Amino acid sequence: MTSITTIIEDIAEEMRGVSERGAVADYIPPLACVDPAKFGMAVIEADGQVHTVGDANEAFSIQSVSKIFGFTLALDLLGDDLWQRVRQEPSGSAFNSIVQLESELGIPRNPFINAGAIVVSDVLVSHYGVEGAQQKILDLVRPLVSDKSGITIDRNVALQEKETGFRNAALANYMRNFGNIHNLVPDTLDLYFHQCALTMNCQQLAETGTYLMTGGRNPMTGQAVISPRNARTIMALMMMCGHYDGSGAFAIRVGLPGKSGVGGGILAIAPGIASVAVWSPGLNRHGNSLLGTRALERLVQRTGWSVFNAHHPS
Ligand code: GLN
Repeated sequence: MTSITTIIEDIAEEMRGVSERGAVADYIPPLACVDPAKFGMAVIEADGQVHTVGDANEAFSIQSVSKIFGFTLALDLLGDDLWQRVRQEPSGSAFNSIVQLESELGIPRNPFINAGAIVVSDVLVSHYGVEGAQQKILDLVRPLVSDKSGITIDRNVALQEKETGFRNAALANYMRNFGNIHNLVPDTLDLYFHQCALTMNCQQLAETGTYLMTGGRNPMTGQAVISPRNARTIMALMMMCGHYDGSGAFAIRVGLPGKSGVGGGILAIAPGIASVAVWSPGLNRHGNSLLGTRALERLVQRTGWSVFNAHHPS
């Protein structure tokens, strides 16, 4: 069988030849000035083998991929009570959409759209405070990563998110009107913007996903990070909602639970098999990495890792 290293080298080579790379997010300069030619990919296999290619060791803004980590902490805190504040259903709408909040009385459709992630941030601020919750997020991801250098919250990105985040402020204020934001809106948004500003490279991002790959454990220490049930819940929601109104197409093309960010990163999990991170800054019209999606599609074609395969490879 072809090794994973060879497969991802082939994929990187193919992606180098693609001229239509999508548009880089341009709402803040730190994202707008990223080179669209960047491409990196990292695969961590269940046995610990690490495979990387291209710009896999260059740090980038993981943006909404970080919604996984906030949600992990909130689910661990509240369990099923969390579903009184946020639903478990795909939205079929853009990541920053406000329309459904009116008919659904301020309860977002899921934790992976902006409105849902802002509610999740509010839960964390209630329990830990703004600074404490930022630390909790770092404390969740850092122990999963072998080389922790460069895993930071980029204060400049967070500040620029805040200065331009009028729509997120609108979402938070609207939900507060329905009683679904319990803290001061600026405090809840402060955590949300700092979470968006998490920065790491592809290898580190793939390592952070290993607690989902294993069904809840840190494979390096054997310690439980979350319960197996919560790991399944997170991955089910990633499959249904992780790419917003592009989630159905992603499920069909890739067939793995995945979460995208407007920085061009995607984290995808093959349960029991691998944790995969890919980074290509150009986005499709849904705000998901164009080449990142294509690269994952190729990887799954070559490995058979789709969770929908009738005979799942071991
Ligand atoms: N910072 C972005 C926002 O809040 C994150 C969105 C994303 O990555 N899809 O709008």
